[in-house]
Amino acid sequence: MLNVSKSDIKTSDIIVSNDVIYYDITLVRKPRNCPYCKGSMVGHGHKLRTIKHPAVRENTGIIRYHANRYKCKLCGKTALEKNPFAYDGFNASFLLMRQAMDLLSNLNYTLSMISKELNISPTQLNRYIDSFITIPPRHLPVCLGIDELHSKELSKRNNSYICILVDNERRVLYDILNSRSKMDLALYFSSFPKEQRENVKYVTIDMWDPYKDIANTYFPNCIIAVDPFHVIKHLTNGFERLRIDLMNRCAYGSTAYYLLKTWHWLLVTNDVELDNKRVYNKRFGTELNRRDLRDMIFDAFPILDDAFKLKEKYRKMNAEASYEQALLRYDEIANEFQACGIPQYGEFTSILLNWREEILNSFIRPFDDRKLSNAFTENANGKLRTYLCVSHGVSNFKRFRKRVIYALNRDIKYALTSSLTSCNRSRKKRGPYPKPKE
Ligand SMILES: [Zn+2]
Repeated sequence: MLNVSKSDIKTSDIIVSNDVIYYDITLVRKPRNCPYCKGSMVGHGHKLRTIKHPAVRENTGIIRYHANRYKCKLCGKTALEKNPFAYDGFNASFLLMRQAMDLLSNLNYTLSMISKELNISPTQLNRYIDSFITIPPRHLPVCLGIDELHSKELSKRNNSYICILVDNERRVLYDILNSRSKMDLALYFSSFPKEQRENVKYVTIDMWDPYKDIANTYFPNCIIAVDPFHVIKHLTNGFERLRIDLMNRCAYGSTAYYLLKTWHWLLVTNDVELDNKRVYNKRFGTELNRRDLRDMIFDAFPILDDAFKLKEKYRKMNAEASYEQALLRYDEIANEFQACGIPQYGEFTSILLNWREEILNSFIRPFDDRKLSNAFTENANGKLRTYLCVSHGVSNFKRFRKRVIYALNRDIKYALTSSLTSCNRSRKKRGPYPKPKE
């Protein structure tokens, strides 16, 4: 608890007063040589240091450390023993700082929450982030995921997008950038040596052309895969649009309207048990199960039946096919979408045609039998989103970057140091103001 061994403690006392736990400590004097002249030293009283220490339950902790003072018999200079609880000049113990760093690695905690919990000011916590966390230059991942985060919390700045780069293989956050513009990405990736960029084997993206261009330019050996979840999302959106368009054409309250309004989930939810026990349906005055209801929908809207079959065909391939199987089935399915004459599938059909190569690449499973996808970027994205929300945006991007990489990349560790720095934003200097004339 106090970072010293029992034999080193001369006296210790624990006093609780007004919700504060005081640890009164004096250490055993040890023979010492003068740091100036190497002469032998003798005891010369104590010097009191108060050091903040982690709380126990609801109590704040304070170490009252009576540091041994020594005086040199030869030159007469005095010196203090080495402080085992904290760095010189720090009012927080090592243990307290470690606890702060642990809490900072959890993005659910805002600075003010940690500040309250540990009785350390937010300014000081920021200095810890600036000083104890360093993000070293690292090799680019073999499987790089690129994604962006758009948040209204960010819109106070000139840039409401953050670009997220992850290592899909190791499932850690690699880096975040202040922008997702093609120019900024080019600037960032061009700073890596060519040999490193050539080692990037896979890049996963959503369907945004600049990402594809950047990957082609900077990673000459990479296979680009489009995130399959995004593809499926466009498919289900198309299907839902068709269903809603059909519903809006029905008379309000009609049977057809009722079916599409109440039972549409039978068409979009995965793995529905259709052959459940038939129960009495008031509207139809008879016992029905889910399959009966779904068949009624298909009878009333044959186009929805076609759209559903197409959708499921794609979903099945997406979920089950190997790269080789997908290669055999993809074009046939794409042709069916093109020929189906359902305008609501138009967008999805052009995606199938325009992103054919990248979608097919997503069926490659280089790691743990997982398809190439942005599943991990989405995971990091969610955590950053929560953090942005609780902390009301980003005021200092450099610091934000440090904290989130530290929190979401287990390879990045902190190191306590005895000097604190602060990477505050450079603020505009205040201009001269006229002296009032008398
Ligand atoms: Zn001396």
